[in-house]
Amino acid sequence: MKKIQMVDLKGQYEQIKEQVNSSVLDVINSTAFINGPEVHSFQKELEEYLDVKHVIPCANGTDALQIAMMGLGLQPGDEVITADFTFAATVEVIALLQLTPILVDVEPDSFNIDPEAIKKAITPKTKAIVPVHLFGQAANMDEIMAIANQHDLYVIEDNAQGIGSSYKFSNGTTTKTGAIGQVASTSFFPSKNLGCYGDGGAIFTNDDDLAHTIRGIVNHGMYKRYHHDVVGVNSRLDSIQATILRAKLPNLDHYNNARRAAARKYNKAFEGVENIITPKVKGNSCGTDENTICDTCNCHVFHQYTLRITNDKRDQLVQHLNDNGVPCGVYYPIPLHSQKAYQDTRYNEADFPITNQLVKEVISLPMHTELDDEQIEFITKTIKDFVSQ
Ligand SMILES: *Cc1c(COP(=O)(O)O)cnc(C)c1O
Repeated sequence: MKKIQMVDLKGQYEQIKEQVNSSVLDVINSTAFINGPEVHSFQKELEEYLDVKHVIPCANGTDALQIAMMGLGLQPGDEVITADFTFAATVEVIALLQLTPILVDVEPDSFNIDPEAIKKAITPKTKAIVPVHLFGQAANMDEIMAIANQHDLYVIEDNAQGIGSSYKFSNGTTTKTGAIGQVASTSFFPSKNLGCYGDGGAIFTNDDDLAHTIRGIVNHGMYKRYHHDVVGVNSRLDSIQATILRAKLPNLDHYNNARRAAARKYNKAFEGVENIITPKVKGNSCGTDENTICDTCNCHVFHQYTLRITNDKRDQLVQHLNDNGVPCGVYYPIPLHSQKAYQDTRYNEADFPITNQLVKEVISLPMHTELDDEQIEFITKTIKDFVSQ
């Protein structure tokens, strides 16, 4: 059996090696390292793929979120509601801009921000909601957009884990995640579903004015050379990363299908196993049953395949997997509201029952495009042997 890895970037590279190698060499020969034609072509291709009017590439997914918030003109003291159960980058940029992060609880089945909790957190100071499409599944955008419309709030989608997924609204329309709110961010960190070979990110919007504002912000607040109209940042995707992303983008649906295929096999292997809750797939666009993972609806792109271990033995399972050569991850072990940097006297433990429970139960299994049946068999057997002890 091939050594099991949490993410197999080498195996994926092998499949596109010739194209990547030659296009990287072409960029080096062109010496157009920054804002070259490759960046422009990638931007256009991603706009087409997502069916969004504007893609603005930048240096990483954290910058993308920060720049999206700067572009909207959010001001110190404005409250921004986001999920307690996500990667820290989401709350970090809110705090960095001196906005007030308001963390709220998530849903137990999708792990995504709970619309009911959003409603309770709204005050006259609330300006925006940041749903994270966690682990590759869209948040409840029907509810979130309705709440935002009702209270006149911006929706900033953190799509770092969800690129390629889509959301089917109750009126029947299907939209790719990242093209739903006023603005969205993504990350091209190597292990993300569409990853480059370094850092990279992008901002998406359908709003022409906002796109214009953001294009200046990523480039030192310049709209005309050496005229700095606003305080900006330096945040660029370089041409070498762009050319790698151009090689991978045409394969993104195929990559996401490979992830879904692995998730289906995991689900099947864990069917009926006590103390294990498999990830729920909500609202399939193609009309199959809820929880059926299919290849046509793109409702979940499995950035992570995350189980809940409900018998208090998650940490022992992690140890057991480590001892048996199966990598795994705990995303995320500490609720954001309990992190030193983000504690706030306004929070009450009773407001976070789900996150407080999930941090003790979740375990993410190896998930990438190159998992084979033998590996999945070994991983699932190792887990089942442990939980049935
Ligand atoms: C990865 C990630 C980010 C940050 O992306 P970077 O490119 O690493 O800065 C932000 N939000 C979420 C949910 C992520 O998973």
